[in-house]
Amino acid sequence: RVLVGTKVDEKHANWVTAYNMLTGIRVSVSRTNAKLDRDLTDADFEAKQKSTFDIAGNELVPSAKYDFKFKDYAPWVFRHLRRLFRLDPADYLMSLTGKYILSELGSPGKSGSFFYFSRDYKYIIKTIHHAEHKFLRKILKDYYQHVTNNPNTLLSQFYGLHRVKMPYGKKIHFVVMNNLFPPHRDIHQTFDLKGSTVGREYKEDDLGTNSRATLKDLNWLRRQQHLEFGLHKKKLFLEQLQKDVALLQRLKIMDYSLLVGIHDAQRGNEENLRGKTLRVFNPGGSAPEEHEQPHSVLMRTPSKLETQRKARELRQMIKSERPVPMGETGSQMPDELGEGQNRPGFVFNQDDGGFRATHEDNSPADEIYYLGVIDCLTHYGIIKKLEHFWKGFSNDRHQISALPPQEYGERFFNFISGITMSPEEAARAAQEKDAA
Ligand code: ATP
Ligand code: CA
Ligand code: CA
Repeated sequence: RVLVGTKVDEKHANWVTAYNMLTGIRVSVSRTNAKLDRDLTDADFEAKQKSTFDIAGNELVPSAKYDFKFKDYAPWVFRHLRRLFRLDPADYLMSLTGKYILSELGSPGKSGSFFYFSRDYKYIIKTIHHAEHKFLRKILKDYYQHVTNNPNTLLSQFYGLHRVKMPYGKKIHFVVMNNLFPPHRDIHQTFDLKGSTVGREYKEDDLGTNSRATLKDLNWLRRQQHLEFGLHKKKLFLEQLQKDVALLQRLKIMDYSLLVGIHDAQRGNEENLRGKTLRVFNPGGSAPEEHEQPHSVLMRTPSKLETQRKARELRQMIKSERPVPMGETGSQMPDELGEGQNRPGFVFNQDDGGFRATHEDNSPADEIYYLGVIDCLTHYGIIKKLEHFWKGFSNDRHQISALPPQEYGERFFNFISGITMSPEEAARAAQEKDAA
């Protein structure tokens, strides 16, 4: 049985929130992008821009369906980040524009975050805690520097940081980031790996109905799975991972994981019916018993012409500094899934948007891996220290997940490099271990 991910339409409880999020993004992103590009200044990292939306509108803010306040954080920094990640401004707006554009994913996990997919499935909006929001602003310069120096970073790609507030409502902070998984390929297996074994298991008994749950470290180990890259790719991957982890350690971040999606070309795209993409996710990540069944998202492919026309219009508007009109997007808004998802120039997206598995002899294998380090905004703050303190009584100290950031990073990297090998290599390593 497959559950269809909740389409966010007028009847959905979070429709107004989602609608306002997108309206705010559209207006603020087109506002920033309409200006002539310039170099960043220190002030850009602290900047925030507030807009008040209402039915009336004014010369700066177009009229909106609902009353709400919107804050755009460090708009110029994110504009530059989007360029570093080579997003086309018009495409970005298009993906995040349109009426019924979002799918909401599952019930909130341990963290309470909500996940929304853009209609074309390229982007994820994740609501984040105020503490995560403050922390991202604090580390934004380090992050920006890191992305500049490491265009192939495996870390989550942040494209925007915003806040929305409805009358009498709470402030909702959210980020826009890359969906690691491609719209056009089935992902046959998903793993969320931290390098910890305590509680890192998806009960495989539950798998019967659902072969696409997000599995964890223990499931991976039990299956004796490996990331097969051959020597060259392995080196590229581990070198980048090491640099990324070093940054996370320096910024005292922990609790992140390597998300691994595996597409098996042998199995192909059974569920990727023509004109439809079926995808399953298990958002919230944490203990499976806290979650309902992972959800799938059903989407339709629109006409190409429609997409191209819309893109032209948007480019025109951006050029002419005219704010993109509201409510004009209607249901004919394109949700083109795009041709492949090759991201030219990005090492880990070079094979159909992912990184192809490779045998030891460098011949290509059947799997394509979609890889990235996610959930990297948890600062090793007081809560984690407490958790560490309490858990430290009962479990092996190095196995629990709330280690200090330095150790967390080491354990994480050791785990991932330990599983990055061919079956032949793994067999040799096991032999050596036996001999010793
Ligand atoms: P927790 O703190 O309890 O782990 P969280 O709410 O912070 O949960 P994440 O760990 O960020 O959530 O993500 C949960 C799950 O959502 C992941 O295991 C993965 O399945 C999916 N997910 C998150 N980010 C992405 C992404 N960028 N691309 C694809 N899938 C993602
Ligand atoms: Ca997580
Ligand atoms: Ca989290």
